[in-house]
Amino acid sequence: MTGAEFGLALTALKELKTLLEKNKDKAIVGEIFGRVNEIQIQLTELHSRHLEIQIDNERLKKSVDLSLRVTPKGSFVYLDGNFEKPFCEHCWYANAKTIPLIKDEEEDYSVETISPGTKRLNIYRATYECPACKVIYDGE
Ligand SMILES: [Zn+2]
Repeated sequence: MTGAEFGLALTALKELKTLLEKNKDKAIVGEIFGRVNEIQIQLTELHSRHLEIQIDNERLKKSVDLSLRVTPKGSFVYLDGNFEKPFCEHCWYANAKTIPLIKDEEEDYSVETISPGTKRLNIYRATYECPACKVIYDGE
């Protein structure tokens, strides 16, 4: 029931009360008034419940729309196919929230001399931190 339909139903009840006021049989009028008041209360409660359901429905629609935009890949989730900007996988699966990750350390490397003629390449992967849940991720 929309707000307009609710308004029309209330107007109809008020018109019914006006018609009843013109009736001479006070006992019947009193009984019908009581019933009309019950209907009015029920209608108001239904309208409140309807508004709550509409709000829930909007929230669920947004959640479904968002889940269609999210792609899991590796340790992260991504939005709208943009694989340059990772989001927190934990926050997505735990709370359906898309929290952009902050890059803490850049990918880097160093060459270490183990012994004369033997070198080792050390690769440091980039790390990312979620500002919401504080999970730290190694880069992909
Ligand atoms: Zn997180």
